[in-house]
Amino acid sequence: MLRRVLLFAARQDRVHTALRALPASRAVVDRFVAGETPAEAVAGGSALVAERLCVTYNSLGEYETDPARTLRTRDAFVAFAGRLADAGLGSEVSELSVKLSALGQLNGPGGPARALDHARVVCAAAKKAGVLVTLDMEDHTTTDSTLEIARELRRDFPLTGVAVQAALRRTPADCADLQRAGARVRLVKGAYREPASVAFQRRADVDRAFVRCLRTLFAGDARPLVATHDPRLIGITTELARRHGRRPGQFEHQMLYGVRGGEQRRLAAAGHRVRVYLPFGPEWYGYFTRRLAERPANTLFFLRALARP
Ligand code: FAD
Repeated sequence: MLRRVLLFAARQDRVHTALRALPASRAVVDRFVAGETPAEAVAGGSALVAERLCVTYNSLGEYETDPARTLRTRDAFVAFAGRLADAGLGSEVSELSVKLSALGQLNGPGGPARALDHARVVCAAAKKAGVLVTLDMEDHTTTDSTLEIARELRRDFPLTGVAVQAALRRTPADCADLQRAGARVRLVKGAYREPASVAFQRRADVDRAFVRCLRTLFAGDARPLVATHDPRLIGITTELARRHGRRPGQFEHQMLYGVRGGEQRRLAAAGHRVRVYLPFGPEWYGYFTRRLAERPANTLFFLRALARP
């Protein structure tokens, strides 16, 4: 119930505006969001790299349909890639996480083609900076289009990654396709509320699908980017990597900024490649409420901070 309310609130601009005005809420947001500016993001990323962690930067923002704003978003990604190179972070330790809806994917029938054009420009800039790119996966209505755009991008930028969601019933088949293509694949449980017609509703079913997808990705040519904080799934990942003789760099653990930092450092110290998803930007609200929805304890932490004088 709480999760449903929070996922609903994630779409409400008025709640966003009210939260922004509260200084106490800012402190809690900072746990999950690295700052509002590119400079703060680079500073946050440098600190993680100094601890032997890799970073994927997500400039927050989604569902943009105004062509002028999608162009600005594209150009901001391009400038950010240059900024990473200038800061000495232009190598595979850095990655850009791109939401295609922020590049106009949902702007009518021509949206996907325009988002592909914009994404190409971002990938070219990232390549020049030596930085990787992975496409985030949004709700299920975008899956076909996102996988298609990822396929197109891989022709010129073979290291372009794409996220897939274990919650969706289609994902084991998508993993089989991506494995054959040798793609970089970020496997996640899925952060969106989806109908039963397309998605598993029970956690146990999502977890089972996650393991099935993991087995497919590790058995084949894909480079699995295993994005979970779930201790059981992390254990299965390291065991599959061992069984398939995967060296560090041939797969990654990925976790969110501010979530299980101790585990991130433990895995890195054990020689694994760990990438932290570092969100930044003024548009933090939708992202932040999705993190609260994932875990009631986060919501309590947040409410307690608001109640503090
Ligand atoms: P859960 O079962 O939710 O959590 C397992 C354990 O992890 C919990 O018991 C708790 O100890 C800890 N934990 C999990 N979440 C939190 C939290 N918010 N705060 C504190 N502790 C927590 N989703 C998409 O739909 N599309 C994407 O492109 C996408 N990209 C992602 C990229 C990365 C690097 C990561 C880590 C996640 C991404 N997600 C994405 C979100 C993902 O789908 C899940 O919603 C999220 O990762 C929580 O699921 P979990 O696998 O950690 O398992």
